[in-house]
Amino acid sequence: VLNTMRLEFLSLPENVGLARVAVAALAAQADITLNEMEEIKVAVSEAVANAIIHGYGGEPRGWVRVTVNRLQDGLEIIVEDDGKGIPDIAQAMQPAYSTDPERMGLGFAFMQSFMDELEVTSEEGRGTRVVMRK
Ligand code: ATP
Ligand code: MG
Repeated sequence: VLNTMRLEFLSLPENVGLARVAVAALAAQADITLNEMEEIKVAVSEAVANAIIHGYGGEPRGWVRVTVNRLQDGLEIIVEDDGKGIPDIAQAMQPAYSTDPERMGLGFAFMQSFMDELEVTSEEGRGTRVVMRK
């Protein structure tokens, strides 16, 4: 590991921007293109927004943790919440699937296409962990 950052914040919608800026600052230490930087920002925003909106129902009820590991061969970003969890991950990750009719259901699709690797683990009532690599 070349560098590591860990950020923990309350599940408030305004903290999506906080996480995006902090991750971008660490990502800037690596040799990445402007385009890659934009993709990382979108992926982080989507994962953190999901933790806040879905994990905790948009209420300031719990912690969201963002860990960034800068490795020899790229960046590893982990977004975790201790919220309600995802009952069916395969279904949740399908493009255009959302449990909220007002939403597009594209968050996971963006993470998938903008990052090289995406791993989601979740336990109902315990929380969700999203690992992304680029
Ligand atoms: P959009 O991201 O386009 O606003 P969305 O958030 O519904 O819509 P995705 O980000 O793809 O779409 O997520 C799909 C579904 O997975 C969500 O509707 C939600 O039910 C579930 N989900 C995603 N992340 C979490 C999480 N951290 N905790 C609980 N449920 C989640
Ligand atoms: Mg989403």
